[in-house]
This record gives sequence, structure tokens and C-alpha cells, in this order.
Amino acid sequence: MRRPCPFCNKEGTHYFDTFDFNLRLSHESFKYYICKSCGVIFLHPIPENMSRFYPDYYPAYDLPTINGLAQKAEQEKYKLDLLLTYTSHGKLLEIGPAYGVFAFLAKRAGFHVDTMEMDERCCKFLSDVVGVSVINSTDICSRLNEATLYDVIALWHVIEHLPDPLAVIKAASEKLNPDGILIIATPNPKSLQFKIFHRFWAHLDAPRHLTLIPPAVLTKVAESQGLETALVTTRDEGSVNFSRYNWWDLSVSHAIRYLYSLIKKESLEEDFHDSASDKHRTAASYKIKNQISRLSRMALRIIDMPVFHLVIKNLQRLEGWGGTYTSVFKKH
Ligand SMILES: [Zn+2]
Repeated sequence: MRRPCPFCNKEGTHYFDTFDFNLRLSHESFKYYICKSCGVIFLHPIPENMSRFYPDYYPAYDLPTINGLAQKAEQEKYKLDLLLTYTSHGKLLEIGPAYGVFAFLAKRAGFHVDTMEMDERCCKFLSDVVGVSVINSTDICSRLNEATLYDVIALWHVIEHLPDPLAVIKAASEKLNPDGILIIATPNPKSLQFKIFHRFWAHLDAPRHLTLIPPAVLTKVAESQGLETALVTTRDEGSVNFSRYNWWDLSVSHAIRYLYSLIKKESLEEDFHDSASDKHRTAASYKIKNQISRLSRMALRIIDMPVFHLVIKNLQRLEGWGGTYTSVFKKH
């Protein structure tokens, strides 16, 4: 049975098949569809037991030390700076904080911070180390419906992981105080990177990313919920950093790995299957492959730095072309 578009309910058409290039946890191929009506790209079918695609070494769940958390907070300070341009205090809910870098920054800046997170280890870290209240759940809509009103609700690179993003946007919109703001950052399927890399695009992150939402669709949905658009940009610091990271560190290395498997005359499916057969080996293999990626990254950076600086960086800084986007909506 075909899955209808999660945003407009129209039937999607098959777009491409891809693999778990980022973590190589399974030999399965994953089918993505595109809605011809609104342009949303979505995975179908969604694999059963999605938790198997979020191992302990999934980068967002790889718990840092206290010093590591402080370092990451410096790197992600742009998120707090963005928030502070709209509001400087109040009750903040972060949905899907992982181990809580933004939650840590927001708490330190004086916000009252609540979180909803599906990963149990992260929940313990959020509670014990970051010191924020946490609800451990995958059922965001139900928990939102039980929640009080917030001045800020933030979803940083989370909406694309959710099976029903529309319902979450609607529920979050209803839980905002007057003048409250909703922040959503997510990959940009209209980006230059997606046009070039397509099924190899690192931000596809199959099968963890279930839905890729064009910026205009997100804006339309939020405005239909009585929110006003305050910002839509592919040029914020997070988007630019993500663009650079995905260009060199992931998408290009996927292509290198793909070429490597062609040279070895080894099908990607077999290679992935080997990796998936043993959890420990998967972690070790992932680390070895990361070393290969790291070396190829260094080489690529030396060779291609002028190209990146002169051409790609400038192209990706054009509004609308960046690999991810951040939207801010305000409740009337
Ligand atoms: Zn649609």
C-alpha cells in the first residue's frame, strides 16, 4: 500500500532507492517518494523497529564529557544567539535534544527548560548532567497534548525524523503562549547539495530521515496554524556549517566509498550486510571507515580548498541554496 504524502495526503510517486550510507547498519534499500503536489519527499515503507537505526554510537547520542559538552556549546552558540533575537526569557521546550547542547545553553541563559527525548541514555544525561527536566517518550503528540504552554518550542534537526511531522507542528503550535516562538531547523530538499548528490546526499540519512520538507511547505503549514513567519533562511551559521560538513565530510566520502566498493568488485549490499551482521564489528567498522573518511577529507580539503572558497561556498551562501534551513514562527 502506498503511503500518502504526510503533508497534503496526496499520493506520492517513487523518486529513488537508497541505502544507509551514513551508518551502514543494514543491507536493506529504502524507497523515497515525492509528492507531485507539494514537493515533500518521504520514505515508504518506514522500517519496523526504527530504534535499530539509532545505535549508541549514533553521533547525536554519543554522550560527551562535561568538557566536551562545554566545547559543543561554544560550537552551537549560534542557536542561542538566534533565539535571543526573538526572546530572552520564559519557558522553553526542546523536542529531541539528544544529549542537550542547546538545552544546556538555554538553561545557562536563564530559560526554564523542559525536554522530550526518545533515547534513554540521553534522558539520563539531560537529567543528571545538563540538569533539565526530561520526558522519555517517542509519542510527542500525546505528551505535547498533556503539556502546559511554552514561550519557545524548538526542534533542531528533529522534524525529519518524526513519522507524523504535520501532527507535531500542529500540536506544538497549540502549545505556544501568545508571542511564543517555534524554531524548526531541518535539511533543505531544494539545496544545491541535494541537486548534485541526490540519493548519496548525506542529509538524506536514510532511513533515519523519514521526511524532507521544502521550506515553502513548512511555512504554509505553520501559517495555517495561526503562526506568523519571522525567519526562513538557509544562510544561518548552522546551515552554513552543516553545508560544509555534508559537502566534504559525508557526501563526498559516500561517493569515495561507493567507488572503493566498485574497485573491490564488492556490492554495497554485501558490504553493508557484513557490517550489519555484528553490532560490535559494526561499531569498529564504522570507526575504521571514519578514519578512511578523515584521511580522504584532509586530502580533499588540500586539493579542493580553493574551489570550495571561490565557488561552492559562495553558491551555498545564496539564500535558498544551503543544505539545511532554519525557520522561526511567531504566535499571534
Ligand atoms: Zn504533498
